[in-house]
Amino acid sequence: MSRVLVVEDETHLAEGLRFNMEAEGYQVRVVETGEAALDLLTLDAPPFDVVVLDVMLPGKDGFAVMSELRQAGQFIPTLMLTARGHPDDVIKGFAAGADDYLTKPFELAILLARIRSLLRRREWLRSIPGRAAPPEPKDSFSFGDKSVNFELLELRVRERTFPLTLMEANLLRYLIQHEGKAVARKKMLEEVWGVHEDTDTRPIDNFIVRLRRYIEQDPTRPRHLITLRGVGYRFVAHPADPA
Ligand code: CA
Repeated sequence: MSRVLVVEDETHLAEGLRFNMEAEGYQVRVVETGEAALDLLTLDAPPFDVVVLDVMLPGKDGFAVMSELRQAGQFIPTLMLTARGHPDDVIKGFAAGADDYLTKPFELAILLARIRSLLRRREWLRSIPGRAAPPEPKDSFSFGDKSVNFELLELRVRERTFPLTLMEANLLRYLIQHEGKAVARKKMLEEVWGVHEDTDTRPIDNFIVRLRRYIEQDPTRPRHLITLRGVGYRFVAHPADPA
């Protein structure tokens, strides 16, 4: 049974989420503060598979909770609930390490679908034995001295290893799948995030900035993640021009 932690202080909403997720067969725990969530999630083996984290909380807000979790090395899949009309919140959430987001008010069916997708990924990761010495990764991609392991959500650049969030990994995978081709921001939002409504595409740029920090030798002069002005981005695995 999948275990969901809901961090939300609005009792009405939290209980509605609990009711519906329990109906889906999830085990649900609700806490009302970020502090309580951090206490639970920084245990050695937190008893949860996915977190639904509201931004507006008494005390520590969702952004602070998110970044503290990631800084503590806790990479549990987390979906943030942000307020509609605050595109900056989406950017802040992703910057803090969120895997996905929904703006309030949201369709319950969409929230449940997003949670299912985060959990699928979680189950997949779990099924891999010996994380420290992985066998031949079945789902990986190498380019130059870099390799991405989509199973372990890791990016290796020479001797350094960067943990990726689910969304960073999904975006990178999407760009790699379209290697050499122009990919529009809107298309990325649709295909990677499953966002079809008219949403601000700026969070994408924020993601690209972070991915560039990992993979580009000089992030100010990118050679792999190329900006196409007014269009979007293009991933180039093996740039022809010398660095
Ligand atoms: Ca709230």
